[in-house]
Amino acid sequence: MKFIINNLGDLEKFAKILADNIKKGDVFSLVGDLGAGKTTLVQMVGKYLGIDDYITSPTFSLVNIYNGDIDLYHLDLYRLESPEEIENIDFETYFYPDGISFIEWAEKAQGYLPDKLIEINIKQKEDIRELEFFSDTDRALELERIMDENFSN
Ligand code: ADP
Ligand code: MG
Repeated sequence: MKFIINNLGDLEKFAKILADNIKKGDVFSLVGDLGAGKTTLVQMVGKYLGIDDYITSPTFSLVNIYNGDIDLYHLDLYRLESPEEIENIDFETYFYPDGISFIEWAEKAQGYLPDKLIEINIKQKEDIRELEFFSDTDRALELERIMDENFSN
């Protein structure tokens, strides 16, 4: 099921629905090319979760931590040269969070990722983006259904 995002306003709608239905323990993998809008989606979800800090890309630090009503971990693993390097950070805290986690370039930590990862794929096609839930866990299917019922662009 593809959700068509025509502009940043559509992405905001998608982000709000996600934020409204997010649950502690959810771990999202955002998959898409550079510039697809992965970080932007995390920024928007964070805003709707009431996180006051401006969310910036953790490209150099691998992880940024935001404390709010619900704690948010934002990881960007682009710079991992091998999966084992994930052991340099407290990855279990982020992959099995008390709050929620968003991971960009999760595939770089292949072998360490949690089974229940909720993958959202962002595909850029000229001026639009297509967002698609990829995982087939119960939770991912539930969020996909909720999005289908609530999202309109
Ligand atoms: P990524 O983290 O995937 O590399 P970013 O979130 O940093 O990408 O986004 C790169 C740029 O694309 C930002 O300037 C952002 O405002 C813009 N952008 C992201 N999503 C959209 C969208 N749906 N429509 C228009 N511009 C977007
Ligand atoms: Mg990014």
